Amino acid sequence: MVIKYGGAAMRDEPLREAFATDVVLLKYVGLNPVIVHGGGPEISDYMRRLGMEVRFHEGMRVSDAATVEIAKMVLLGKLNSDIVQRIGRHGQPAVGLSGEDGWLFEVAPVPNAEQVGFVGSIERVDVDVLNHIAADYIPVVASAATDRAGNSYNINADEAAGKVAAALGAHKAIFLTDVEGWLDDPEDGSTLISRATVAEVEARLASVGGGMRPKLQACVDAIGGGTQYAHILDGRRPHSLLLELFTDEGIGTMVTP
Ligand code: ADP
Ligand code: MG
Repeated sequence: MVIKYGGAAMRDEPLREAFATDVVLLKYVGLNPVIVHGGGPEISDYMRRLGMEVRFHEGMRVSDAATVEIAKMVLLGKLNSDIVQRIGRHGQPAVGLSGEDGWLFEVAPVPNAEQVGFVGSIERVDVDVLNHIAADYIPVVASAATDRAGNSYNINADEAAGKVAAALGAHKAIFLTDVEGWLDDPEDGSTLISRATVAEVEARLASVGGGMRPKLQACVDAIGGGTQYAHILDGRRPHSLLLELFTDEGIGTMVTP
């Protein structure tokens, strides 16, 4: 099971603890969780602290070499390490890695690299390293990667999670976010779309904006690789993972083939 961790569930201390206990429980019951995380807001915080300008272009962080350096330091040195130790403290050993470990991700610059700089898209996922780690540990993947020429890139964590789920043929892919799920009207939390097929998502994808579009695309990618269910859940709710998995009605948006 692949879980994309980010947004609200990562910013608040009690939610971070609840997430770690849930992941440990999933490992105990044999669901074999693989975590993929981003860290956008924290990267922006650190950049501002260093007096760097934070800019986005069409939802992508404009990333010169210095920005990627900070992003990597925050993702790996702080966030990844925090998630790994937290899961470990709750009783299951975790191992942190990013795209260059075992050449997990092969990346290429995005088509509009001229505007956004070192933003990468994932061309190929080699799950060998993940399978080795997941046999005994909980893998925690930071969404950063380096190409074989040595250039480092920012990558969208939703894209990474969707492609990891596809490459693993994961049973489920779960995306934790900071809204109820995919909303018909993004301004109105009561307009949750609780179920959609891949065809329905694809028909509407071009009209979806902000951070929801890469999440829906990632659901489509995951299912294209054999994942049976992709879910977008409200990470602001403590234990949203367990609520989805172990209640009949579930929560959030479920995408199916
Ligand atoms: P995350 O950290 O979970 O990736 P993002 O900010 O990237 O968070 O993506 C979630 C955001 O997408 C929501 O907070 C919301 O502002 C935005 N959004 C845009 N369109 C929609 C939609 N149709 N339904 C839900 N959220 C949407
Ligand atoms: Mg996002």
